Amino acid sequence: MTSIAANLQAVRARIAAACIAAGRPAESVQLLAVSKTRPAASVREAVASGQRAFGENYVSEGSGKVAELAGLNLEWHFIGPLQSNKTRQAAENFAWIHSVDRLKIAERLAAQRPPDLAPLQFCIQVNVSGEASKSGCTPDEAAALAHAAAMLPNLRLRGLMAIPEPTGDEGLLRSRFALLRRLRDRLNAEGLVLDTLSMGMSHDLEAAIMEGATLVRVGTAIFGERT
Ligand SMILES: *Cc1c(COP(=O)(O)O)cnc(C)c1O
Repeated sequence: MTSIAANLQAVRARIAAACIAAGRPAESVQLLAVSKTRPAASVREAVASGQRAFGENYVSEGSGKVAELAGLNLEWHFIGPLQSNKTRQAAENFAWIHSVDRLKIAERLAAQRPPDLAPLQFCIQVNVSGEASKSGCTPDEAAALAHAAAMLPNLRLRGLMAIPEPTGDEGLLRSRFALLRRLRDRLNAEGLVLDTLSMGMSHDLEAAIMEGATLVRVGTAIFGERT
């Protein structure tokens, strides 16, 4: 069995190689270790190998780990679907939310972010796969949502997030990531300041980096298969 330390090293090497292939500086891509369903002990192992940013999909599970590992000064990102009744707990426990897909969720997060904490960083999740995927707003809705959500207090809009449908078609995959990049560029041209493209996972981080990803969310390749 390979260790989390060795896996992390391999993932960092993949990111570095992809950055070279894309002609980008290695520091332009941040690694988010997706620790959903993993015990706090696995997070500690990754921390021992220098990892500081972790992603969680379930608000209750993630909040439990945030509390358990509070002394380690980690950066916690929420990346899963977010229901209205979980926004308060999410606003209290995470530094980032990647999955804002409607204004109502952003408004609740703005109202519920504790004022003594730094502004909650967030991304708008966009459905780049049309009918083939359900989560995220449509690319057409994203612009209005971004402009409205960027005005809210206690929040800071950082960029866009997407999860393309699984496909073995490299060209199709690249086109999904490229759609998100073009949308980001368009919103920046309209006056927003979006520095983050959250895209790419264990199986497709190279394609995402080729298309401009600034943050890749990697679970399986670091922690092994989820059971
Ligand atoms: C689980 C998950 C990941 C990580 O996926 P892997 O294939 O395990 O790397 C990334 N992003 C989101 C939104 C996830 O739910």
